Amino acid sequence: MQPQRRSNPDPPNALRGEIEEQLKKLFATLPFSVPIYLFTRDGENDVLNRAARETLRSFRNLSKKIDFKEFNLDHPFAAQWNVDRSPTILFDPERYSIRYLGVPYGEEGRTLLGAILIIGLRSANLGEQSVKVLNQIDSPREMKVFVSPTCPYCPEQALVALKAVVEKPELLSLQMIDIQCNPDLAEQYSAFSVPQTYANEVLIAQGALPEELFMLSLLKMEQQNVFIPESDAAEVRTDVVIVGGGPAGLVAGIYTVRSGLSTAVIEKGPLGGQVAITPIVENYPGFTRVPGKTLVDITVSHALEYVQIFQGEEVTELVPGDPIQVITNRRKFLTRAVILATGANYRRLDVPGESRLTGRGVSYCATCDGPLFKGKKVLVVGGGNSALTEALHLYNIGVKVTIVHRRDRFRAQEHLTRTAFANEIPVLWNTEVKEIKGQERVREVVLYNNKTGESFTAATDGIFIAIGYTPSVDLAVKTGIQLTADGFIQRDAHHRTNIRGIYSAGDVEGGYKQIITAMGQGAEAAISVFEDLMHPYWKDETSRQTSGAPS
Ligand code: NAP
Repeated sequence: MQPQRRSNPDPPNALRGEIEEQLKKLFATLPFSVPIYLFTRDGENDVLNRAARETLRSFRNLSKKIDFKEFNLDHPFAAQWNVDRSPTILFDPERYSIRYLGVPYGEEGRTLLGAILIIGLRSANLGEQSVKVLNQIDSPREMKVFVSPTCPYCPEQALVALKAVVEKPELLSLQMIDIQCNPDLAEQYSAFSVPQTYANEVLIAQGALPEELFMLSLLKMEQQNVFIPESDAAEVRTDVVIVGGGPAGLVAGIYTVRSGLSTAVIEKGPLGGQVAITPIVENYPGFTRVPGKTLVDITVSHALEYVQIFQGEEVTELVPGDPIQVITNRRKFLTRAVILATGANYRRLDVPGESRLTGRGVSYCATCDGPLFKGKKVLVVGGGNSALTEALHLYNIGVKVTIVHRRDRFRAQEHLTRTAFANEIPVLWNTEVKEIKGQERVREVVLYNNKTGESFTAATDGIFIAIGYTPSVDLAVKTGIQLTADGFIQRDAHHRTNIRGIYSAGDVEGGYKQIITAMGQGAEAAISVFEDLMHPYWKDETSRQTSGAPS
């Protein structure tokens, strides 16, 4: 199964059966009706107009609370509310300035559902800290969030922005812009990576920011990377805290709770880690071919049967002791054990132009940003499983891909290598990227052939970097946890680190970095925690030492 393609959206007839019943029940609880107005012009984006119409009609059929109306762009309301694009969706325009340019389809279905619920409740339900920050804004901010239906990060960012408007409608407005329906706006803003947020035409967030950081960026009109809360929020007592909501963390949570340990999973960003942005997974048993995001959704809903997940919350400090204190940007957890499943981040090339042009043609996520490059030329850098998976995904959605690899052979699985060769994806062997060039966006890349010593320039619209990952160990280092020579968390066979009560699991430990091995490590770490809490090994060691027993 391929990820959904946007050029020919199928009519949305997926709202069926059980989901339909659940949505009906959910919408019936909304205290307020949700006016949704769709504006279209016949002859302009007809396929998209039809998809938007059918999506919204299918929601309207579920509840009288959804007050859906359709207008032509010639209608006086279009002029009244400055609507000039087809399709455009306005949400409760008498009360809020919130609009969606495009079709809330694919991942963006979550944005539509979230918007209906938030507007139907007329409550943003923001954290205390976010409200404090928003209350300091004293002049208008017109937000534009660029999103794409293939981007799993986008709905969260769009909904955080939407919540800000619902909290402060007198000063804030929002346009959610689907870049696939509005490529001209994506070009105009050079938004070649999503999500991307502008306020009053200033870029304030690239990528998805947690709620408080987003609000702070909106206040300061500049992207903020650290949020320092004004006060400690509530205290939560639990047996286990798992830091990280990727495969290792989610599976660890299932195991600890099933062992009878109360557990909190804390994840600062989207759930699922790297898997969420893997286009297609072909080696997870039980699924011959499954989009990474689907696998994440299934795992998350399984985990939620057991464990509480604190998403959008960032652990800023760990204080070892008994209990261990886990301090986040929202509250303090007091816990008996911690499992660090913080995963890994993209490795960067560290060449001139890379940082400056990130989101302007430099990308680390083909699933998110690939559709923007349909019909265009891109380079994929790397020779491992990630690079070949990304190159094949881009090729399959109609992007003209060339792989750039610094050696003369791939290190990817044979199956991926064979598929790339069978599709005749061009490869520049023995080639290194030296510089990425362009003013507003990537235009060309300076390459170097390390066999011939020759440098040359290649014109390109984008460059996808897939050269591996570096472990996310900042928190571990700050806490005094020992690392291996390669920079991963040093742990014993029971996943114990050098600090009592703190364990690790998944990619942050190094190893094979497969979904299935990360999950296995999560299960192992959870079982270790359980066994150690039931039979504390350190007490045995103390009694052995005091009784003179050999250790
Ligand atoms: P990887 O296996 O470490 O491969 C990284 C690739 O990037 C290598 O080809 C490497 O070149 C190249 N590279 C590294 N640094 C570079 C630099 N500075 N400039 C240019 N090229 C550079 O990383 P990955 O492909 O991201 O995979 C990470 C892990 O996830 C692996 O364990 C992989 O098996 C796993 N994974 C599995 C699947 C799957 O099972 N389907 C899919 C994706 C990832 P050299 O070859 O010269 O070292």
